[in-house]
Amino acid sequence: MRKNGVFKQHMKGAPMRNEVGFAICRKPNGQVTFGPQASGTPTSVQIPVSCPPGSKLEGLYHTHPGGVPRPSSTDIREGKRLGVKKLCINADGDMRCYRIGKRLRGRI
Ligand SMILES: [Zn+2]
Repeated sequence: MRKNGVFKQHMKGAPMRNEVGFAICRKPNGQVTFGPQASGTPTSVQIPVSCPPGSKLEGLYHTHPGGVPRPSSTDIREGKRLGVKKLCINADGDMRCYRIGKRLRGRI
């Protein structure tokens, strides 16, 4: 356990301790909408891959509390497995989105 991380998490309050995630979906009219939010542990979250009726899965959003706004190798593997185009990571307010294909491309 990193002392710094624990301190940061304490400062942010309880809701930020665990990762939270949800699906990013798109309606036929182009509007972005979201699936149900799930919370996990400080280092992982099982994101429900579910979109509101009529919308299509576009990507996944999750937080990295006290971490870096970059997808982990597990994040990329899961994203590819689920066939999503986009991964958005929020590390304590610093949110970045990445496009996944053959390679990972940042800052989209
Ligand atoms: Zn992650």
